[in-house]
Amino acid sequence: MNPNSDYGWTTKLQHFGEEEKINGAVAPPIFQNSLFVFETMDELMNAMLVHPAGPNHHYSRVSNPTVDIAEKKIAMLEGTDACKLTGSGMAAITVAVLSCVSQGSHVVCVDTAYGPLRSLLTDYLPRFGVTHTFVQGNEVEEVVSAIRPETTVIYLESPSSLLFQLQDMEAIAKVAKDRGITTICDNTYNTALHMKPHTIGIDLICHSATKYLGGHSDITAGAVCGSQARIDKIIRQEINLVGSILHPFQSWLLNRSLRTLDLRLKRHESTANMVAVWLEGQPEVSQVLHISLPSFPQRELYQKMMSGSGGLFSFIPMTQDHRKVTAFVDALQLFQRGVSWGGFESLALSLRVKPMGFEKETSIVRLFCGLEDPTDLLADLQRALPLLSD
Ligand SMILES: *Cc1c(COP(=O)(O)O)cnc(C)c1O
Repeated sequence: MNPNSDYGWTTKLQHFGEEEKINGAVAPPIFQNSLFVFETMDELMNAMLVHPAGPNHHYSRVSNPTVDIAEKKIAMLEGTDACKLTGSGMAAITVAVLSCVSQGSHVVCVDTAYGPLRSLLTDYLPRFGVTHTFVQGNEVEEVVSAIRPETTVIYLESPSSLLFQLQDMEAIAKVAKDRGITTICDNTYNTALHMKPHTIGIDLICHSATKYLGGHSDITAGAVCGSQARIDKIIRQEINLVGSILHPFQSWLLNRSLRTLDLRLKRHESTANMVAVWLEGQPEVSQVLHISLPSFPQRELYQKMMSGSGGLFSFIPMTQDHRKVTAFVDALQLFQRGVSWGGFESLALSLRVKPMGFEKETSIVRLFCGLEDPTDLLADLQRALPLLSD
């Protein structure tokens, strides 16, 4: 199936990359092998040299037919030449960043980016002489003014996964391109269904496939997408050296999950929209941070860049007594207390944070609406809400 064909996403998610039916098997088999053997040394050498991720697999640290299928589907979704799957989202982010820095490089990074990526920049890369500047990211001028002559990367995450702030990625990508700076974006929230950063000029797109792409809270996986040249370089260097690959069985589960991505995302989105609107009308709630609400401060940018939202959002309760906020989260029955999101199950967290642009420490509740009956989830929140009263 041609990635540019007129078929809809749901059709492509079923069939793309699965044209070859091995022994007629309708679901692709799992190639659970570490290496591939050849009739002659010539053929082996050829497989090793022709193309690092070409069809001639020789060793599963470099490529594997089962892993290939999910990689092809995710590249097709993002509209990029290529995708490489990794053992986790953090592996994808780390190899993407490492592929663009050397001693003396400088990274501009959005302040609300995923925590461990911040640690990579603040605690680890300084050892190798790589510096960074965090920016709030809401204003393009602020991002531009953080650029230095030695800046090689601008790292974005839009929206961020706690405060849901957006960056104007198209405008930032244009400035970066003019100056030869690589842009990297964490697109985990949007999957590729609601935003395709590559089509607005972003160079490398990272995913935690542990979230929506995996969708069942049973695998840890990541993906990095970009031009063939960029991904080939990452495979030859960072992936080959760090060795953080996704294994065939996990890739097979990921491919199975991709078949229902469109369906699941629609359900997460409609439930969360309903819950967010309801919460906004409750006296115990000060502000709901959900990108698809009419009250969302960056609504124009949302409508320009994205075609939908998802199941994840936060709210700031009226009470800032953190014990009460935590008691509310502890009292929920269907929403379970846990990190991560994007699976079948609803999740909640109470956090006390002071991000850039906030005047003081703020108690915040993050909710993820899973695939349970929307009315059951609403009833769960309704039952616990009085615990937030003053
Ligand atoms: C979970 C997450 C990551 C990290 O992914 P892992 O698969 O846990 O390594 C990165 N970015 C975002 C936005 C995430 O939610």
